Amino acid sequence: MFYTFQRRLSFKITILGSSGALPAYGRFPSSQLVEIQNRHFLVDCGEGAQMQLMKFGVNFHRINHIFISHLHGDHYLGMMGLIFTMHLLRRTNDLHIYAARGMDEIITTHLRHSMSAPNFRIVFHALIPGTNEIIFEDNVVTVETVPLIHKLPTLGFIFREKTKPRRIDKTKLPEGLRILQLAGLKRGDDVLDDDGNILYRNVDLTLEPRKARTYAYCSDTAYTETLLAHLANIDMLYHEATFTDDEEDKASITLHSTARQAATIARKANVKQLLLGHFSARYRDLEPILTEAKSVFENAHLAVEGSVFTISD
Ligand SMILES: [Zn+2]
Repeated sequence: MFYTFQRRLSFKITILGSSGALPAYGRFPSSQLVEIQNRHFLVDCGEGAQMQLMKFGVNFHRINHIFISHLHGDHYLGMMGLIFTMHLLRRTNDLHIYAARGMDEIITTHLRHSMSAPNFRIVFHALIPGTNEIIFEDNVVTVETVPLIHKLPTLGFIFREKTKPRRIDKTKLPEGLRILQLAGLKRGDDVLDDDGNILYRNVDLTLEPRKARTYAYCSDTAYTETLLAHLANIDMLYHEATFTDDEEDKASITLHSTARQAATIARKANVKQLLLGHFSARYRDLEPILTEAKSVFENAHLAVEGSVFTISD
C-alpha cells in the first residue's frame, strides 16, 4: 500500500540521451523520460531513444505524450523507430505528439512509403513558434512551452504540478466522520452537522498541501535572460551546456550555451537544481563542463544516460 502511494506521487526524470548533434563516446542524442504521478512523458526523441527506453525498462505503452523541442535531427530522429515498435507491440492507445509543423508530414511520409498504418491513432499537436502557452493539462499537471533562441523555431517545456489538496492530519481526525465529510475536508471545507453548523474547522484537522513541483527542459538555446521570468524558482532545470567557456564564440555562432551560461541562468532564476546536457562530441571527459557550472551554481549535475533525478514530494 505504501509503495503504491509513493509511486503515485513520483516526479522523476530519466536521462535517455545527453549528446549534442553527434553521438559520441556511448552517449545518445537528446531524449528524456519525465514521470509525474504515474504519467509518462517523452521529451525529445533522438535516434536510439527506443533502445534506451528498453535498456532502462520503460514500458512503451505508458508513453502517451511526446514533446519535441525542434526539428534538428538529434531531437527527433528516434520517432519513426519508436512508432514502428509501438505498432509491432500492438499499441492501441492514442499517441499525442507535440512538435513544430512538419513533424506530422515527416511521420505520414514514412508511413505512406512503407505502406504501414499503425494500430493506434497519432494525434498531432502543432506548436506555435515563439509562444509561452499551456499545451497539455490534466487534473495533476500542466505542460507549457517557453521560447528558446536557436537556428530553428525551438521551444522548451515546463512541467508544473497543480496545487495539491490539503492533507488530512490523521493524528487529529475524530472518529465517525462520513466519506463525504472527509472528501470535503480534502477540498478545504469545514465539517458541518446536518443543520449546517460547523462541527470542526478545516484548519484544525488538515495540514498544508504538499508543494507543487516543477521541471523545465531547455534545449537547444543560446544564452537568453528572457528565460528568467519563466524559470523563476523552478525545482529542477535542464539547460543545455554544449560547450565550455573557452568555446563561447562557437556557442554564440551555433546558438548554443556554455556550462557557465547554463549555470548563470540557474543562479539568476533561483532554481533549486540544474541538470546539464547536450554535450558536444569534442568532450570525452565531461568533468570540465561540470566543474565550470559548479563554479557559478553549486547544485549542478551531469544529465548522462541512465541517471535518474527525483524531485521529492
Ligand atoms: Zn538544435
